[in-house]
Amino acid sequence: MFYPDDAPEKDPRMAIVTAIDPGTDGRRRLALKNPATLEPIGEITLATRDDVNRAIARARSAQPAWAARSIKERVAIVKKALDVLIARKEDVIATVRAETGKPRPEAIAIEVLPSLDFINFWSSRAEKDLSDQWQGLHGYIRPMKKLLMTYKPMGVVGVITPWNGPFALSMNPTVQALIAGNAVIVKPSEVTPNSGAWAVKILHEAGVPEDVVQCVIGDGEAGGALVDGDVDKISFTGSVGTGRKIARACSERFLPCTLELGGKDAMIVCEDADVDRAAIGAVFLSMFNSGQVCLGVERIYAVESVADEFIAKVTEHAKAVRYGSGDDVDMGPLFWDRQLAIVERHVEDAKAKGARVLVGGEADRAKGNYYKPTVVVDVTHDMDLMREETFGPVVAIMRVKNEDEAIERANDSKYGLSASVWTKSEAKLISVARRLNAGSVVHNDAAVIYGVPEAPFGGVKDSGLGKVNGLTGLRGYTNATPILVDRWHLKKEDIWYPYGERTLKALEGVIKYAFGTPLRKFMS
Ligand code: NAD
Repeated sequence: MFYPDDAPEKDPRMAIVTAIDPGTDGRRRLALKNPATLEPIGEITLATRDDVNRAIARARSAQPAWAARSIKERVAIVKKALDVLIARKEDVIATVRAETGKPRPEAIAIEVLPSLDFINFWSSRAEKDLSDQWQGLHGYIRPMKKLLMTYKPMGVVGVITPWNGPFALSMNPTVQALIAGNAVIVKPSEVTPNSGAWAVKILHEAGVPEDVVQCVIGDGEAGGALVDGDVDKISFTGSVGTGRKIARACSERFLPCTLELGGKDAMIVCEDADVDRAAIGAVFLSMFNSGQVCLGVERIYAVESVADEFIAKVTEHAKAVRYGSGDDVDMGPLFWDRQLAIVERHVEDAKAKGARVLVGGEADRAKGNYYKPTVVVDVTHDMDLMREETFGPVVAIMRVKNEDEAIERANDSKYGLSASVWTKSEAKLISVARRLNAGSVVHNDAAVIYGVPEAPFGGVKDSGLGKVNGLTGLRGYTNATPILVDRWHLKKEDIWYPYGERTLKALEGVIKYAFGTPLRKFMS
């Protein structure tokens, strides 16, 4: 077992997730704490491989009847989740806050609101995007054939999710997969199991049958069992390390998967940036959700001409960020003691290599799992803070000569999830964005792109594989199956057996007349 016995936090008071004695049934169990207060919040029993396989078998039997319903019927059921979620909002917020300690505004803005928007968006678009579509064909094929595009459900989809956005990141892929006609098994993070489970409960209460969407509570063992089990697709959101293991397991079986992994997103502050907006944006987008956002700002390149003013304003805003567990705070704790250790290590490494800490720069374990709002300058690419995912409330700023250097530095990373460009010029944004090697680029803002379901979302390089969201993401939960329909009923095609003069004449004729004359313009 990789976890939690090897967790770096040795002080048992601080451990957010602790292995406890197995239950009478022999299943492993974990005790959980609220990271904001270190108060115990309950215990969970972990699903075994057999439990996972039984869930998959139930999903397999239930899926055909779900797929047999029309898209309209499926959508009507899923759409009811809007009212259920609004009615259950306080339960969801309470669970998310107990498991993560995030402030109420973040439980609403990061979990509840985007989930409502995802449910509404996918259920409003699905009928158009997943229904059969006739397509005219091009060129010389057009008179003979026509194409019916169909989008068949894949079967059973495994959705494995992380702890940083445990409700919304479980809800979004699940809704898409369900609407597309699949059965879904959600395996939320063991750090936030009940928040993930709420996504499934909401869908049950909306009317999705129990076996069509299920939640298995477990850790990496249950996640691994899901990947190895009789599923037809894996939608994974989590770390690069786990993503790599899943990619390996899926490749053995040619199992389709999307891997939404970590990031080290660059923010480029151009010389014509609105420095006031950039400064407050830099602080918020590096620190909201306590910095634990895959596409939050992780490194900032500020061009020389605005760097001093930008750093001064960032410092001022960062000093004003209030952290803690009450209702009058801006920032909560890190959700897991392991993450606190990583943030600490990155900042210490940066300090040792010459970076200057202007604000914060240390953990605060007195009341919980906190890292202070932090600003670090004079950072370089030799530091982990600029190379590895920090996932903490740290604004790391590097001065660069100009935008060319900023682009070069931004691209000098193994990650490529998203990036942001801060400029008053749309033309400059687009030209810089085209040169950035990232899965998406955002103007004068960051992170928000995941909440824009029209936009295919996914990273390049180590940040992942495949797209969630957008038409590509939704249709990614189907097997796109073209049906090629005959328009002229011929006894046989000219190029079928037996080959002979007639065959060659037909082929040469197409080359000569269709492509060798001005007629070619009708061939495309
Ligand atoms: P993680 O990889 O440790 O765990 C993610 C999930 O995978 C959990 O449910 C975990 O139990 C499960 N898991 C662990 N080992 C497994 C295995 N061998 N097989 C199958 N499942 C296994 O990630 P985390 O620490 O929970 O999440 C934080 C990471 O997620 C960060 O790197 C963050 O950037 C990333 N993330 C990415 C996105 C995105 O959309 N790109 C969104 C949110 C978070």
